[in-house]
Amino acid sequence: MTSIVVVGAGPAGCAFAVTAARGGHDVVLLHDDRRGKAWAGEALPAGGGELVTSIFGPGVIESHHIAYGTTAAWGSDDLVTHDFMTHWSGHGWHLDRARFDSDLRACAQRAGVRVVAERLSSLKRSSGHWMINEQVRADLIVDASGRPGAVVGRLGVRSHRFDDQIALVATVADTGGEQVTTIESGATGWWYTAPLPLGKRVVALVTDTDLLNSDRAETFNATLADTIHMKKYIHPDHSNPVTMHPAGTVQRADLYGDGWIAVGDAATSFDPLSSQGLVTGMVMAAHAGRLVGTDLVGTDLAEWDRGYLDALTEHESLRTAMYSAEQRWPEAPFWSRRH
Ligand SMILES: Cc1cc2nc3c(=O)[nH]c(=O)nc-3n(C[C@H](O)[C@H](O)[C@H](O)COP(=O)(O)OP(=O)(O)OC[C@H]3O[C@@H](n4cnc5c(N)ncnc54)[C@H](O)[C@@H]3O)c2cc1C
Repeated sequence: MTSIVVVGAGPAGCAFAVTAARGGHDVVLLHDDRRGKAWAGEALPAGGGELVTSIFGPGVIESHHIAYGTTAAWGSDDLVTHDFMTHWSGHGWHLDRARFDSDLRACAQRAGVRVVAERLSSLKRSSGHWMINEQVRADLIVDASGRPGAVVGRLGVRSHRFDDQIALVATVADTGGEQVTTIESGATGWWYTAPLPLGKRVVALVTDTDLLNSDRAETFNATLADTIHMKKYIHPDHSNPVTMHPAGTVQRADLYGDGWIAVGDAATSFDPLSSQGLVTGMVMAAHAGRLVGTDLVGTDLAEWDRGYLDALTEHESLRTAMYSAEQRWPEAPFWSRRH
């Protein structure tokens, strides 16, 4: 039996914890419940619901809202619908992330994982073991802390940033009620809006850090005024808070090492345009969780690592194709950097 501490109880951390615990290992999941930012309004693509059920069991995904598709003004001013209902693997899901994450933690607890409401504050290694927060001893530490990479950062693992993309996110009352994600491109980047639970929706601008002026709400509102579709969801004179989320593509130089492994966004984070983060994070974390106790630092994990590289390679070619489909502002920095 391997003793494991998983740092971060998001979807990837829970997927790792559940599968490792089912394999008979002793798993502690550190859950930092202080969350300051608005949720980004994530959706699972078609097939994502089946994936959640295959890892966590029935009864989790059903409490979320069906996503019927995406409608996008991309390459022209007209909204074009991409309907999930005609996709071979059916519809997607608009997630209530607070509920989703809390249900996944409950699944982990039922699988025998000990969930501890604590942040990683110290990490020491001696005689082949980790000492976490001065009190928990483990053979293996798993970084599932998302983009901050709480463990990989402490271990000095280098990151390769493909861009400096961020998302400016505002949460508004939902007056439209459509169960779709709507996307609109503009000279400074692209916008999306998606429903949130409790009659709210998110409206977000994805752009590059250096294209913001010092007042991010001002950039958000000035850019919003130039949109055709997004300003129907939020008035350009609004005074709702605008939060900033890192949203670039980032790859860690190493995804595992002596007694540690990184999963989810802590390992590789993707452009939100791909809607790939959650599915890849959960699939790869569940896979890694099943490898515990086998050839943990050998060929099995090397093969697993290649899976991430393949996902990133596919992501890069899809991303290039998607951005190349928008040619209306070839000189604008956001677009010329991506063509
Ligand atoms: C604007 C935007 C829109 C997106 N839209 C989509 C979408 O539509 N579909 C999609 O699939 N993906 C989307 N994503 C990506 C998706 O949000 C991530 O891929 C996903 O949340 C990663 O899951 P994770 O479990 O790896 O990390 P997270 O969900 O970030 O979870 C990490 C957890 O670790 C905790 N933590 C952090 N530091 C510590 C610490 N020191 N100690 C203990 N705990 C810690 C955090 O509090 C958090 O609970 C989007 C991302 C952005 C930025």
